[in-house]
Amino acid sequence: MRTVYVNGAYVPENEAKISVFDRGFLFADAVYEVTCVLDGKLVDFDGHIARLRRSLAELKMTLSVTDEELLAAHRELVKLNAITEGLIYLQVSRGEADRDFLFPAEGTPATLVMFTQEKALVKSALADKGQKIMTADDIRWRRCDIKTVQLLYASLLKNEAKANGVDDVWMVLDGQVTEGSSNNAYIVTADGTIVTRPISNDILAGITRASLMRCAEEHQIKIEERPFTVDEAKAAKEAFTTSATGMVVPVIEIDGVTLGDGKPGPVAKRLREIFIQFSRDAAI
Ligand code: PMP
Repeated sequence: MRTVYVNGAYVPENEAKISVFDRGFLFADAVYEVTCVLDGKLVDFDGHIARLRRSLAELKMTLSVTDEELLAAHRELVKLNAITEGLIYLQVSRGEADRDFLFPAEGTPATLVMFTQEKALVKSALADKGQKIMTADDIRWRRCDIKTVQLLYASLLKNEAKANGVDDVWMVLDGQVTEGSSNNAYIVTADGTIVTRPISNDILAGITRASLMRCAEEHQIKIEERPFTVDEAKAAKEAFTTSATGMVVPVIEIDGVTLGDGKPGPVAKRLREIFIQFSRDAAI
């Protein structure tokens, strides 16, 4: 039985309660973050909290909990649940109010919940094997830069992927790959350059993406930020994805086309190792 956080209280998971009038439930009027726990420490906590603040500001949502209090709550949950490897999920909704498309009166408190999930991050069968990807139209709203809980399309796609015997989906907008269902997408060109779509309203600015770019720079690996097509991806030497919980995961197939020799490529494998070490060193 986990202990979860609900509006300042630490309670057993089966006693945690949220109102049926909560706007997160009724309107998906909520944002979230997922922070990894490695060796019992938080990975990229500052980055996740900075993005949370940005998501809140874009949606004109207020949260009267400080960054220091959020850090303390994350650490308390790690301790109470004895998590050494896994994640902390945090969600903020605009709170509880009579159902109305208009926002509730100012001063309505936000709902803040957090819970832990144990998960092996470093050891990953998917990363060892490499993932098979299919592509699909990106029909999401055009504010994918805000990390809202409107994840139904991504969830539908992930299920479609499973039904088709593949692992995940890359979404395509105007002929170019935006991102994965829950990760950022990269290809490696013939000359070893890593290519990934630039930050815009069309993708989530991955915290792992930002760290990976720092790692690549430190190791003199070239990264180019530009959009790429599905055809370019299919012809690429390698491909991979990044996310907080997946870290770096190689891609071995796109729409039935095998990349390279069909095994995780050396660039992706090396970046995964570099990233894991970087995360261990920087975790707080
Ligand atoms: N894009 C989308 C759509 C995502 O859902 C995620 C993970 N939540 C990412 C990218 C990767 O972001 P991060 O590296 O911060 O986990």
